[in-house]
Amino acid sequence: DRPLLAGRHALVTGASSGIGMAVARDLAGAGAAVAVNYRSGQEAAEALVEEIRAAGGRAVALRGDVSSEDEVAALVRSTEEAFGGIDLLVANSGIQKDAPIGEMSLQDWQAVVSVNLTGQFLCCREAIRAFRRGPERPGRARGAIVCMSSVHELIPWAGRVNYAATKGGIRMMMQTLAQEVAAERIRVNAVAPGAIRTPINEEAWGTEEALRKLLRLIPYGRIGEPEDVARAVTWLASDEADYVTGTTLFVDGGMSLYPEFVGNG
Ligand code: NAD
Repeated sequence: DRPLLAGRHALVTGASSGIGMAVARDLAGAGAAVAVNYRSGQEAAEALVEEIRAAGGRAVALRGDVSSEDEVAALVRSTEEAFGGIDLLVANSGIQKDAPIGEMSLQDWQAVVSVNLTGQFLCCREAIRAFRRGPERPGRARGAIVCMSSVHELIPWAGRVNYAATKGGIRMMMQTLAQEVAAERIRVNAVAPGAIRTPINEEAWGTEEALRKLLRLIPYGRIGEPEDVARAVTWLASDEADYVTGTTLFVDGGMSLYPEFVGNG
């Protein structure tokens, strides 16, 4: 059997850690050549590239800040140069800078918007431009994008208005782009993780008490692992999902299902 992503060329942003790292590893395992973007975390990115190469795959590590227009253009160009093209983007980089509204500085707002929303806009735009430069794939999508959203594209989140606003924005950006480029056979989708065990939210699972509180929000009864998200991304990116565009796939153990209603009906 041909691996799901054989012959595909991917860029994954923020792949030196957490979900992005698991996604890059899973795409490579499915046969894609993978550009592993990092901003900080060069060592982790290079170790992942070595791991992928040792397993017989193709990978490069590429430094770049997704909130910089020039750096994103260079990232996409470097991916094309490394692999002879690009047909898959996973726009994953994201940050949190939490504060109650009275204390949230304009800087905290702008930092999160710049990385989470503007960063994904820039990556999507450059990837779509590159897909247009690339060859058509008869009978298949010529390019696919997976945006990393969150259950907070749907669930409001007190004390994180900057983060929740960016994820709501990603939802409408993703749907609008999907509508705009569908006729060119470019697919755009999102994955919305619930609570996943990564460095971004260690305070939510790092102690037994925090974890117990968190699990009350998850009907499925366990925290998510980066690999849970990675497998969903690989599927959405693959030709198995060829007729899927403009959709958000929730990978959240039921977190978005109003868990407080369980046993309360
Ligand atoms: P993480 O902190 O482990 O990873 C974030 C990644 O983004 C890191 O690799 C970081 O270097 C990178 N990054 C930050 N700023 C960047 C910039 N300016 N340019 C390039 N890269 C940059 O956290 P994670 O949990 O793996 O988060 C990945 C994505 O998943 C984020 O978009 C986050 O919002 C989303 N998400 C995470 C969870 C969760 O529970 N962990 C839930 C929902 C959504």
